[in-house]
Amino acid sequence: MLARADDVLVDTSKQQERFVIPNVVGHIEGNKTIISNLAQICNTLGRKMPHFLKFLNKTLATKGNVRGNVVVFMSKIPATKLNEKIKEYADTYVFCKECSKPETELTKKNDVIFLKCKACGAKYAPKSKI
Ligand SMILES: [Zn+2]
Repeated sequence: MLARADDVLVDTSKQQERFVIPNVVGHIEGNKTIISNLAQICNTLGRKMPHFLKFLNKTLATKGNVRGNVVVFMSKIPATKLNEKIKEYADTYVFCKECSKPETELTKKNDVIFLKCKACGAKYAPKSKI
């Protein structure tokens, strides 16, 4: 089991006060890791799946692809490691480094990604890992 059952349930009343990144839900099948809620996590972060997946593939040195409702990684990845990388992604590409709020958006200009914060107006190029 990659996740405990109580990690699956998200308390929506809390979510409005505090930004909560869900833990991954999935299982390992042979040499593959199948994650069923990566799209949901990506939505919570307000980012696009190709960018999110590119980051995970690069930093985990694996190959993951969207297959219908799930994402299949072509290697065994512990849930803790995936959760760690998702947090790293959020810290880099979602949370504003000035005010730490998640109300940000990514824009691309001349192949450089910029993070724009809707809360404090900061705009900067995140230290990119991909
Ligand atoms: Zn900000």
